[in-house]
Amino acid sequence: MSFRIQIITPDAKSVANRWKAQYHDKEQWYSPERKQIYEQLLIAPNDAKAIAKIIGNDSWVGETCYGCGEKVLLFMEFSQYEVNSDSESTRLCFDCLERAADALRAVKILLPKSEEKGNG
Ligand SMILES: [Zn+2]
Repeated sequence: MSFRIQIITPDAKSVANRWKAQYHDKEQWYSPERKQIYEQLLIAPNDAKAIAKIIGNDSWVGETCYGCGEKVLLFMEFSQYEVNSDSESTRLCFDCLERAADALRAVKILLPKSEEKGNG
């Protein structure tokens, strides 16, 4: 098992480029609203909340936490093997990790010391 800390840096320009790739085709925008959003993204600050406000939702910045389903910018990525793009991994945000650790802690105090690692 391996894990790594991931920090997503909001980047309005890269969101704008992805937005254009999604909603612009054959020299045309799918709608005037989508063109307007693109133009706002080009001059937006690199801030997740500002980007979400322009688009109308937070789905374009960050990654989804597997625990709470929220879009997060800071999370821990876990993998059974080495964490990389080829291996299946799980992402958990700070709050979910903390809740999980609290739950484990609550159970751990009930166990005799020798049983914590399961090897007697
Ligand atoms: Zn979470």
